[in-house]
Amino acid sequence: MAAASSEPAPPTLGLNIEAPAAEPTDLAESLVWEPAKSGAFAASGEGLTADYADAADAADELRSLRDEFLFPPTEEGAKIRTGDRPSVYLCGNSLGLQPRAVREELSSELDKWARYGVEGHFKSDLPWVTVDETPVESMARVVGAKPVEVAVMNSLTVNLHLMMVPFYRPTATRHKIIIEKHAFPSDWQAVASQIRHHGFDPATSLVELGPREGEETLRTEDILSALEREGPSTALVMLSGVQYYTGQLFDIPAITAAARAQGCKVGWDLAHAAGNAPLYLNAWGPDFACWCTYKYLNSGPGSIGGCFVHERHAEDASLNRMAGWWGHRKTDRFAMASAFVPSPGAFGFQLSNPPVLCVAALRASLRLFDKATMPALRRKSLAVTAYLRALVAARLPSVKVLTPDEPSSRGAQLSLEFGSDVPLRRVYEALQRESVIVDIREPSAMRVAPAPLYNGFRDCWDFVDTLAAVLEEVKGRAAE
Ligand SMILES: *Cc1c(COP(=O)(O)O)cnc(C)c1O
Repeated sequence: MAAASSEPAPPTLGLNIEAPAAEPTDLAESLVWEPAKSGAFAASGEGLTADYADAADAADELRSLRDEFLFPPTEEGAKIRTGDRPSVYLCGNSLGLQPRAVREELSSELDKWARYGVEGHFKSDLPWVTVDETPVESMARVVGAKPVEVAVMNSLTVNLHLMMVPFYRPTATRHKIIIEKHAFPSDWQAVASQIRHHGFDPATSLVELGPREGEETLRTEDILSALEREGPSTALVMLSGVQYYTGQLFDIPAITAAARAQGCKVGWDLAHAAGNAPLYLNAWGPDFACWCTYKYLNSGPGSIGGCFVHERHAEDASLNRMAGWWGHRKTDRFAMASAFVPSPGAFGFQLSNPPVLCVAALRASLRLFDKATMPALRRKSLAVTAYLRALVAARLPSVKVLTPDEPSSRGAQLSLEFGSDVPLRRVYEALQRESVIVDIREPSAMRVAPAPLYNGFRDCWDFVDTLAAVLEEVKGRAAE
């Protein structure tokens, strides 16, 4: 349990919600939703029809949220074999769709600027001077944190660097960083450059964890034994919550606990996990976490990043940090004294006054998360992705799935791998001509992510049906 009532109340910055303590126990039982019992499909052929997918969508209690988003229109003259439909967008892992409310939210900030000029900092019901507080409660709910633990600021890679300032403090005997061998390049580059910045050498200070020979994803047991082995000389463990390429969801609580037991600091890159997987950061106890908000959190391309600093560090003004005026305590920030006194919690790591338009866009999206709630989104996501998995097994037998089959080890995304005989780029272009939008990682992988806020069963059916036809077509052409 996180906060016993005898503990002193954490600073709240005037924002007051409790962090959810742990994953609700009923979640495991609802791993497979009735309309999508994955085993049933393959055996009986049930579920393989468009009608079945439509019926499952009709039974989805979150279905109406789809109407809150702008789907890219189908291309002029697009040939769509599955009939009249909007584009099939399964790319929320890369860039979330635009919530309809974003335009209005941005407009109102532009109006404020036009009407008040600089006075917009203090006028209106949402003055810019406190704009960074406006998304924090909702953002904290998405990642299972207390508001004092969360700030929105900068962007993801910048925040990873900023968090490594206090949480990567290498010494001669404890200098290593543990990451994944196939980490997103930006993460690899960030940690390698931090190691060099401190005068160490990535060749001896960077520990990379990869899957076993012949396997695609990491086993938790292997991560834990690496922590046993390397823990005493490791300063920081920094993995991703959901692996961007394979879609693997790591056992964040087990890995965090094991790393902390070894005396390591722990940070998570939640770029592909925030708004996708269930997160209980306060209860799980990493030192920090960073994420972007333009993937599953739909705040727009290049928009502002999110950052978590655990509450046990909230009042620690002695933490070594890069400082800037926006991290200075609010009570006298505008007194313009030079000496830095940090705000409690994650707010104390801000540097600059925040980009108001990005925060406004994020706010519009987070309102939808508040409406849906993460446990309900996760329930739906488990069902929809199980359905997608079953369709792939039934209709695309030659396609290999890189993502773990265990539902608790994946989020929304499935990563598909094609044989070397399949010209992936041509498949991708053929899908685009059908207004089916997914992404590929050459040479051989396709990432497909039904985002539970706006995707459903029929999207998965349309995607698989179209891909099956495209693969036939491409193979036929290759044989000519
Ligand atoms: C998307 C993503 C990034 C992108 O970083 P930016 O700083 O936002 O450009 C970095 N790391 C991971 C793991 C990602 O998924």
